[in-house]
Amino acid sequence: MSNNYRFSLEFYPKGLNGGLSMPLSRPDVQPAVEYAQFEALKQNGQFPTRGSALFRPSYANGGPGLNGFAIEVPTVAGVYQAELPIDYFADTAKDYQAALVSAGKLTADEECQWAMSAWESDEGIDCMAPAVELNPELVASSIEEFIGRSKMACEREAEPFRVFVPRDVLEETADLARAASPMECGGVLLGNLHQDSRSRELFAVITAQIPAMKAVGSELELRFTPDAWESVRSAVNLRKRGEIWCGWWHSHTPVAWADSCGQCPIERQRQCGYATRLFSASDRTLHRTVFARAFAIGIVANVLAGNEVIHSCFGWRQGRIGARRYFVAEDR
Ligand SMILES: [Zn+2]
Repeated sequence: MSNNYRFSLEFYPKGLNGGLSMPLSRPDVQPAVEYAQFEALKQNGQFPTRGSALFRPSYANGGPGLNGFAIEVPTVAGVYQAELPIDYFADTAKDYQAALVSAGKLTADEECQWAMSAWESDEGIDCMAPAVELNPELVASSIEEFIGRSKMACEREAEPFRVFVPRDVLEETADLARAASPMECGGVLLGNLHQDSRSRELFAVITAQIPAMKAVGSELELRFTPDAWESVRSAVNLRKRGEIWCGWWHSHTPVAWADSCGQCPIERQRQCGYATRLFSASDRTLHRTVFARAFAIGIVANVLAGNEVIHSCFGWRQGRIGARRYFVAEDR
């Protein structure tokens, strides 16, 4: 059986009889592979090994319309299969829809549904993807103990995976963000994966943040240069605590955005999603490129008027990046 498929995205504007179809160039299946690998570890205790992962369309009513995808990843205990809904491509669909709007084929305010199709084809895209092994050391501990000395940072839907961030690590990021403002700054979040001794639930505990001193900040974005990553790597090696990269943090400085948030009083900034919950396109690209592991989070320290800092947190959910909640651990 061939593993090659041609994919297309179809758009059905409400007012139009029929739809618009666009061929999909190479889909990004790596986050799906990461999702399946982490599920294998979380659900089944199967450690993913290196090799090839297989990404396969799941057809609705015999096809070519899709209702989701199956992903197979190699593990120490054999192949593990996970399923993803078609929403995995919702962000891609949004980009393609925006392109159709730019090309004048759709209007921006038009209500529009989308769907996806696939055909097996030798000229299509090879749906194999490389799988990198995932065998972190799992620290045996008690999740109840962590919950007991933590506060939930914000109320959102339940997370598929719990993350604990110590209060002092958050405060360090806030202090660095204030000191660098109006420039952005950032760093790497170190930590460990833990496993509850009773329920076997996996969770992450952040232990420290390492500032990326050589990152190049501006008022609008932060660029991590190869030098910046290298300096973090050597700092981690010096610590010798068996920590892994559990994510990253960086600051936003709405206080200095002269054309937008900077003009608002603190009361409005606190309520504003743009000032307090933004994860920009370049933030997503960096998260996808460097922090693709399904447990990795990205914390943003938003510097508001009067140097007040509000944190927000983002992470992976079924292969997509979105806002997530986390626990603030009050003491260690
Ligand atoms: Zn950012």
